[in-house]
Amino acid sequence: MTSLMWQDGRFVTDASVSAFSHAVNYSCGVFDTARLYPTTEGSAFFRLDDHLRRLFSALDSVGFTTRFSPAQVKKAVVQLGRKSGLTSAYVRINAFLPQEQLRVYPEKRQVSLAMVIAPLHYSGKTFESGLMAHVSAFRKASQAAIPSGIKFSANYLQSYLALRQARAAGFDEAILLDSRGFVAEASAQNLFAVKNGNLWTPSVQSEILPGITRDSVIRLANDLGMRVKEADASVKQLQTADELFLTGTATELMPITRLGRRKLAVGPLTRTLKAAFDDVVHGCHGYSKKWLTYL
Ligand code: PMP
Repeated sequence: MTSLMWQDGRFVTDASVSAFSHAVNYSCGVFDTARLYPTTEGSAFFRLDDHLRRLFSALDSVGFTTRFSPAQVKKAVVQLGRKSGLTSAYVRINAFLPQEQLRVYPEKRQVSLAMVIAPLHYSGKTFESGLMAHVSAFRKASQAAIPSGIKFSANYLQSYLALRQARAAGFDEAILLDSRGFVAEASAQNLFAVKNGNLWTPSVQSEILPGITRDSVIRLANDLGMRVKEADASVKQLQTADELFLTGTATELMPITRLGRRKLAVGPLTRTLKAAFDDVVHGCHGYSKKWLTYL
């Protein structure tokens, strides 16, 4: 990668880690991401404080420590944004154990923090084309096995396997059920459905990551007078939805235009919410002031 990076307090052109680090041996690390948008008052990160809060709470939940405070990491992300000269970009923050430790339970638990800023590479899928998805044969691990609320690198094995299967079958995305058989989420996106003018999304009990974009969309929908039900939902409810869309930092708000063999149109509620979301991230909404960190 030739993009601008930061590692443990220094701007670098290449961040590195030993092949025998605990991070590589056992995929033990947490990460988060954030998105930089162009606005009328310059570039701004969307809900950066919330992304950092989630990163630090993930570190806490797995018992890893860092010598950096959230304020120091925030300052570094903002500096990285400024230095990059980019107006539309994606930042990835990795926190991992860099020490060479050949045992599963690491004695040293202070992480190395590395971040990179890069323009987003689009897959060619647009809001109008939407994504083709299917219901995956792979399920989410139960909360009792792997807590889904933590962005732990190892959690993404199930996403990788599900995506691999989806791509082989000609789909862009996989929708995973939770360990009980209810609809959970896609590989790295939350799921919303519209039925008879009302929205539903799997609840946080359904082994999902409670996404920051999901939270933003729920608030925008409520403000627009739409009812959002957070509940367990069956595959049948998914298959009979009028509209389906995914939400995530990288994906933003993206319609599903095919579920298995069934085609779906990009519906009116999806369009209204996407327009409101675009207004927020580009600085033209009442929420922009509180949700944007300007460079
Ligand atoms: N679920 C999973 C498993 C994810 O990896 C992501 C991406 N972070 C999401 C949902 C969406 O979360 P957010 O809106 O915070 O990016």
